[in-house]
Amino acid sequence: MKAFFFLFVLVPITSLCSQSRFDKVEIKTNLLTDQVYMLEGAGGNIGVVAGKDGILLIDDQYGPLAPKIKAAVGKLSDGPIQYVANTHWHGDHTGSNEFFGTEGATIVAHQNVRKRMSVEQNREGRITPAAPEVALPVITFGEDLQLYFNGLELLAIHVDNAHTDGDALIWIPQANVLHMGDVFFHLRYPFIDLSSGGSVDGLIGAVETALFLIDESTQIIPGHGPIASKSDLTYYLKFLKTIRLRIKSYIDVGRSLDQIDSSKIVEGYEEWSWGFINDETLVRLFYKSLTTE
Ligand SMILES: [Zn+2]
Repeated sequence: MKAFFFLFVLVPITSLCSQSRFDKVEIKTNLLTDQVYMLEGAGGNIGVVAGKDGILLIDDQYGPLAPKIKAAVGKLSDGPIQYVANTHWHGDHTGSNEFFGTEGATIVAHQNVRKRMSVEQNREGRITPAAPEVALPVITFGEDLQLYFNGLELLAIHVDNAHTDGDALIWIPQANVLHMGDVFFHLRYPFIDLSSGGSVDGLIGAVETALFLIDESTQIIPGHGPIASKSDLTYYLKFLKTIRLRIKSYIDVGRSLDQIDSSKIVEGYEEWSWGFINDETLVRLFYKSLTTE
């Protein structure tokens, strides 16, 4: 009887899940400066530069949220959404490109973002189909790019093989705001997308690059999690280096992944475990990256 009840309840819930998941999402706007904001909804945090020239978005979450994102930024400026800058190719950061591209926004990203979005991607069996032409970045860069908008200079700085092979840090020096995309997961374990060219050492190098740019009063927009400071990012770097060192010491004495106790590796950082990246997943990603580099 119990099993029957469970099945009966489960079927309708899962069939409604993908739709209701986004129906209930509300877009929350956080003011960072008089022109720069962070939006939270579902998926990666969105950076917004708003003013007389209109709107620039840094990342745009999932496609079904596009109308809600548009409504939220409409309260910040009367102007059009001129630009979307993507920090990397993942669908929780580029999902509304199609919507905003169709409405006339110019999409900007590292050249590997366009390359990956142009063809089907397979992340350990998770298939993402190729994006339509209108969703692809039309301005791409290799190392870095400057963009001048609403009186602010924005620097897109490519960091090699970190979370993926197409990551950009978006630095707005006059506003003292840095959007780090998924190079920085704040207060949770990071995902390193090895099948998209991500690596542990690249991630550490990218965080070091970010720390070089900022100061104590910089407001950091992480890919996921709440707004952070330089001291939060310094602590995250210590975490990355600690986990790397602990796993490396086992690799160096020939231990296989199965012979490593995840709970010992993550000691002191357990509260950062979450649904997508738990202790075992984190250790597996680090191990795999450090044994293939
Ligand atoms: Zn990502």
